[in-house]
Amino acid sequence: MLSNLATRDVETLLHPYTHLSNHRRTGPLVLERGEGVHVYDTEGRPYIEGMSGLWCTALGYSNAELVEAARVQMGRLPFTHLFSGRSHDPAIELAETLKELMPVPTAKIFFCSSGSEANDTQVKLAWYYNNALGRPQKKKIIARRKGYHGVTIASASMTGLPANHMDWDLPLPGFLHVSTPHHYRGAEPGESEESYSARLAAELEETILREGPDTVAAFIAEPVMGAGGAILPPKGYFPAIQAVLSRYDVRLIADEVICGFGRLGTWFGAQALDMRPDTISFAKAVTSGYVPLGGISIDPALDEVLIGQSEKLGGFGHGTTYSGHPVACAVAIKAIEIYRRDRVIEGAAEKAPHFQRRLSALADHDIVGEAKGLGLIGGLEIVADKASRRQYEPKAGVAARCVAFAQEEGLIVRFLAGDRVAVCPPLIITPDEIDSLFDRLTRALDRTRDWIRS
Ligand code: PLP
Repeated sequence: MLSNLATRDVETLLHPYTHLSNHRRTGPLVLERGEGVHVYDTEGRPYIEGMSGLWCTALGYSNAELVEAARVQMGRLPFTHLFSGRSHDPAIELAETLKELMPVPTAKIFFCSSGSEANDTQVKLAWYYNNALGRPQKKKIIARRKGYHGVTIASASMTGLPANHMDWDLPLPGFLHVSTPHHYRGAEPGESEESYSARLAAELEETILREGPDTVAAFIAEPVMGAGGAILPPKGYFPAIQAVLSRYDVRLIADEVICGFGRLGTWFGAQALDMRPDTISFAKAVTSGYVPLGGISIDPALDEVLIGQSEKLGGFGHGTTYSGHPVACAVAIKAIEIYRRDRVIEGAAEKAPHFQRRLSALADHDIVGEAKGLGLIGGLEIVADKASRRQYEPKAGVAARCVAFAQEEGLIVRFLAGDRVAVCPPLIITPDEIDSLFDRLTRALDRTRDWIRS
């Protein structure tokens, strides 16, 4: 029997990424409030939010300073924009702060409202740049299978998950995908992480040479893959990839929508994984998810081209109503102030070894093949046979069942394709709460094993 709210939900809402007929039957988990790392449903039941919502609420729930920053800006100037020379102080101050924080040379910041828009902007600007340099054919974009970059037409084309392509005739022509850098699944028996990285770099080089280096504009990668399965790249991956990209003058776009703002124990994931991108996409934790904001860093070479082109073309024709929304910028300024003042990111780095020890211990569980992560993010993979790494049929829905058991145990985690389960709690989680999270996840895995065997 669905509750009143659940019934109204199934009759009115089209939910993103949801099995719609199952949803009609089971109804949603309706959440009402949150505090610290906990969220509460309409019955008052608490859950550890082990996914930071959707990888974003780094400062947890009900942070009074973020609420106050939004309230004050709402009262002062709830809306203005950055079109045609208009500006406002929250956008200026936030751009200055982000310029300081960016781990790559950054001349300017472009704001938008989501990760998808940020990555779409990256594509447009890579094309714009090459058009301006008189090489309009240098337009192809290379991404990775299982990479996730969003749902707008260009960002979905870069996303490397079948669910984002089928039924929409995507990817668009000119968007290519190379292998997922997942040692557990992709390496040959006995192949070291370093040799596997070298092989992946060789595959990238072959792809660029086959397509023609003068046709390839950019390569996009998340430091740690999120929605594709919370997958950590093998050792030496980014330096090996980077060497190929520089040989053929291909831009590297770091999609830091999940890893940016502390997830890996560093301000940006690039810093943790020896990645030296030309530009960074960010969103989510820039406001701790409290209000939508995304953006990208503009490197000096691109900035020069943009200014030069405006002389010729008369303007830069890209942006949305909410690019640099003042309330979002005010909340982001406050979030960054808190990250700095309370040493939230250093704190995440300090807690990471404990988090990762508890995660990797799950690899000993009867049904877990791999359990691995970095900082305060990780993924585990449920397998039918640990020795051969054989997987269950996707239809068996084993990881989904595990996540449902976790929910009954008072823990929110997320299942992803390939029977993977992702964990990504708020950065403010305490060591005791980390223990509680993994105790609940262990019980969910035990129950999944018993369910499989029954
Ligand atoms: N890039 C990454 C790495 C993401 O994880 C996401 C969303 O989860 C996106 C881009 C798309 O962001 P949004 O959902 O805000 O459009």
